[in-house]
Amino acid sequence: MRVYNFSAGPAMLPLAALEAARSELTDWQGSGMSVMEVSHRGKAFVACADETESLLRDLMGIGDNYKVLFLQGGASGQFDAIPLNLTAPGDSVAFLNTGQWSAKAIKAARTQGLAVDVVADEAASNYTTTPAEGSFTVDPGASYLHYTPNETIGGVEFGYVPDAGGVPLVADFSSTILSRPIDVSRYGLIYAGAQKNMGPSGLCVVIVRDDLLGHPRPGTPAVWDYAAMAAADSMLNTPPTFGIYLLGKILAWVRDEGGLPAMAERNRAKADALYGFIDGSGYYSNPVAPDSRSWMNVPFLQARPELDKTFVAEADAAGLTTLAGHRSVGGMRASIYNAMPIEGVQALIDFMADFERRNG
Ligand SMILES: *Cc1c(COP(=O)(O)O)cnc(C)c1O
Repeated sequence: MRVYNFSAGPAMLPLAALEAARSELTDWQGSGMSVMEVSHRGKAFVACADETESLLRDLMGIGDNYKVLFLQGGASGQFDAIPLNLTAPGDSVAFLNTGQWSAKAIKAARTQGLAVDVVADEAASNYTTTPAEGSFTVDPGASYLHYTPNETIGGVEFGYVPDAGGVPLVADFSSTILSRPIDVSRYGLIYAGAQKNMGPSGLCVVIVRDDLLGHPRPGTPAVWDYAAMAAADSMLNTPPTFGIYLLGKILAWVRDEGGLPAMAERNRAKADALYGFIDGSGYYSNPVAPDSRSWMNVPFLQARPELDKTFVAEADAAGLTTLAGHRSVGGMRASIYNAMPIEGVQALIDFMADFERRNG
């Protein structure tokens, strides 16, 4: 029996992708082995990785002047790898600080010896807003502007692409990649840990423009040297083969469902339904400014916070799992990534309404 899993990550995956993987788990392409047991340098797996990459390129519209890298170490690894590849010690970099993931990226940049210029910081709203478009400027001497399009913990998402003022735009898309079409050409570098919207943990996708490659700092670990990894087709060492394979299955599902425009339509409908219910209820609330609300992660509070544990336990018993809020925030959080069907969101809304009737 499948539940509706509202985890922020690792998160729910499309059933079609899991079933496709199951059907060939013990005998992949007639090899008599699973995909996890074949050589990453063999013809079959190289073709599988190529297919995953070309599906991603097609769906996202990634130009030929970008490399797609399949790395390990998670999005957190990129917090350090990006400075190592794109800057020299002492360079200045600009950041937008919209919450906990931004803050971690900022901390790593400082550790890497960069002069960090936080050009917008949403502390005044307790990180329930995004900076107003046009409210910040980026020094043209900065190596790049980094931002977090979707703050997974705070449930705060940009409704626009920030103007980087001519310097490369670097974005941590971990929790919103593939949720809608984006214009990749506006970005210098996009990165995302797979375990929110793209597959199992252990895989991190980096999409980087060619002109930013080739100047790693001396001592950069080879597995995080983008140019070296690109030259080796992400196979400088053994890549996360199962993650790359499953990403291919998930991308095929996205394609079959109608691609990123269809994902956007579904995600908007899901978010509208849940926020609409929360706003219409006198019992639940969401703290985020309406123009900055995430389509993917919906934190919410109830009027009787002493019942949070009860809410989470009863929801779990009803097949609606992993609704506890992040340990730093409390309350509840519903993550409604691509794989969450509208029926799951409706089941949550029905449960919330019933819980309010019984306890409100
Ligand atoms: C989950 C997440 C991360 C951390 O990803 P890891 O793969 O665990 O390192 C970083 N940034 C954002 C926005 C996330 O949602």
